[in-house]
This record gives sequence, C-alpha cells and structure tokens, in this order.
Amino acid sequence: MARQGRNGSRTGSSSKRTLQTRVNSSGYQQFKDPRTGKWTSTHKRVAEKLVGGPIFPGREVHHIDGDKTNNRPSNLTIVSKAEHRRIHRTK
Ligand SMILES: [Zn+2]
Repeated sequence: MARQGRNGSRTGSSSKRTLQTRVNSSGYQQFKDPRTGKWTSTHKRVAEKLVGGPIFPGREVHHIDGDKTNNRPSNLTIVSKAEHRRIHRTK
C-alpha cells in the first residue's frame, strides 16, 4: 500500500483543494473533514491543536468574545460544561 508517493498528474494545478465550511444551526462554524467526509466543529479542532490533544469529555470550547465564528486560538478557551452554561447565562 504505497499510495502516497509522487503523483504524476499533469492536471489540476489550478484547482487547489478548498475546505468546505458552513455555519450550523447553533451558529458554530464547521468544516468538512476531507479525510472522513464529516462536518467537524472548527473551534473544537482549533482548541485540540491548542492543547495538543483531544478535548476531554464533559469539557467544551468557549468563544471568549462571544463570536462563535471567531475561531482564533486566542479567542478560545476550554471550560467545563457547567462553567460554560454559567458563562452564557450571565453576560
Ligand atoms: Zn461559549
């Protein structure tokens, strides 16, 4: 299974693969993972990169400035579910 070698294709230099994105019904931005074909939350993926591993169960990613589509690492913080609820209740 050596399918990752060089690719002798002469076509397609103009069509660079662009990531498909959307905003879901909750207002969160998602992208379609080219590997799995599944819609994945952008902020969660960014946060996972931030901590260098998966987000633990029961923890959620919060957007500090309240903008759910601002997925800059500096705008994301990981909080517990309860803490997250509290943050969104009091504003
Ligand atoms: Zn939040």
